[in-house]
Amino acid sequence: MTDAATELPNELKAETDRLLAGRTRDIEISGSLLRLYLKRSWPQRSKVVRAWAIWIICLSFVVVAMYAFVSPRDLWLIAPIIGVFIPVITFGLFLLWLRPRHPRIEGLSVLLVLIGIIVAYGTVGLGAGGADSERYLNGSLSVATIGIVLFRVERRWSLAMGCCCPLVYLAFQLLNPNIEVDKAIASCLFYAMGLFSVVAARKYAEIVFKKNFLMSLRNDYRNVELTRANRLLETLATRDPLTGLANRRSAADHIAKIWDDDAIPKATIAFVMVDIDHFKKLNDAAGHAAGDECLKRVARRIDTSVRSGNDVVCRYGGEEFLIVLTDVTQETAWKLAERIRSGVERLALTNPGLDPVTDAPGLVTISLGVAFAADGMDSELVAKRADDALYEAKRRGRNRVFMAIAPERALVPAEVDAPSILQGARLTGRLAPKVL
Ligand code: GH3
Ligand code: MG
Ligand code: MG
Repeated sequence: MTDAATELPNELKAETDRLLAGRTRDIEISGSLLRLYLKRSWPQRSKVVRAWAIWIICLSFVVVAMYAFVSPRDLWLIAPIIGVFIPVITFGLFLLWLRPRHPRIEGLSVLLVLIGIIVAYGTVGLGAGGADSERYLNGSLSVATIGIVLFRVERRWSLAMGCCCPLVYLAFQLLNPNIEVDKAIASCLFYAMGLFSVVAARKYAEIVFKKNFLMSLRNDYRNVELTRANRLLETLATRDPLTGLANRRSAADHIAKIWDDDAIPKATIAFVMVDIDHFKKLNDAAGHAAGDECLKRVARRIDTSVRSGNDVVCRYGGEEFLIVLTDVTQETAWKLAERIRSGVERLALTNPGLDPVTDAPGLVTISLGVAFAADGMDSELVAKRADDALYEAKRRGRNRVFMAIAPERALVPAEVDAPSILQGARLTGRLAPKVL
């Protein structure tokens, strides 16, 4: 898919749809769409002209070589005109078509070269005299016909070629004293009719090219729109619209994935359940919008406090969040939970619903419950244990972390210094690891 398609303005998309909805023969593109068409079709259009130019140059040399064997007495005329003049003007055309030009220059260049070829062959024919004259002219006209069929220039230039070539042809016929005027006009009309049918065919071929271009353009921008819509759908299905965090469903997918992964020791997985304290009071006192703003700020703080890559944060319900930690020890989980708790406290968001005396300083706080998984334990049980731990944190006065330590000592990795956790509890005065 091209960049042009992704950046296509809406007016051009509408114009493309309109043209494709109409009749094929009415397809007429202009303005920016035409510029885009010329840009996109440039590689093919220019290759054809350059290939034709090379072919003419080679053919001219072959003609000269042939005359050197067959009729060396004509070489004095053939060599400079067919061996030099034609290759020079055609090579000029080749060089000109190496990079994109204005459509007028494209059209004029091929027209002049075709006329140049007919003039060259006509001159040679006049020099040779007799029946040879017409043979040369007819040969050059077939070269011009091939050119008109192949060159994808603007329609008016194809038409100009279709008119000019027979006229030049007629001029050389009339200059030839061996050809009668009425026969010259008759053969010119004959060729002109042939060329006009070629020009008409060229016109329809160009319409088909333009239609193909419009269809591929439409495919491109529809694909872009579809990709965008799919991305949006995915976001809607997996993210919480208010906070931008993962939603509960995508957390469930993540949990199922890590539970199925045998390479992850289950004892290194922890769930942290987070709940904003007295959120209802904030909502009631400051309004739902303020409540939403608080939810967003808290969500962002939690999200920036976890380890990127390992931890997944989701909005679990109204003002509750679930953090799924992998590859953690109890000590790390504890420190992380404590960091989140103090981080939210440091946001210094006021909760106007709190009592200014008993709840001073009246800030928004959170409570957290931490629980670890174990081999053979299902994730629902871990979630329930984290929820129970959260309830315990609430019961003990809120704004604190409570960790549920499994009764099986095997849960505590050997390197974890469990007493240091207990010591941490004493230090902060909020921590109370306990077997639930
Ligand atoms: P606790 O400290 O015990 O957790 O008390 P609480 O008031 O935080 O808990 P409670 O469950 O009583 O109230 C939670 C409130 O959260 C009730 C509900 O209106 C509000 N809530 C849930 N979702 C949203 C939301 O998306 N936006 C807003 N503004 N409020 C919400
Ligand atoms: Mg709450
Ligand atoms: Mg709650």
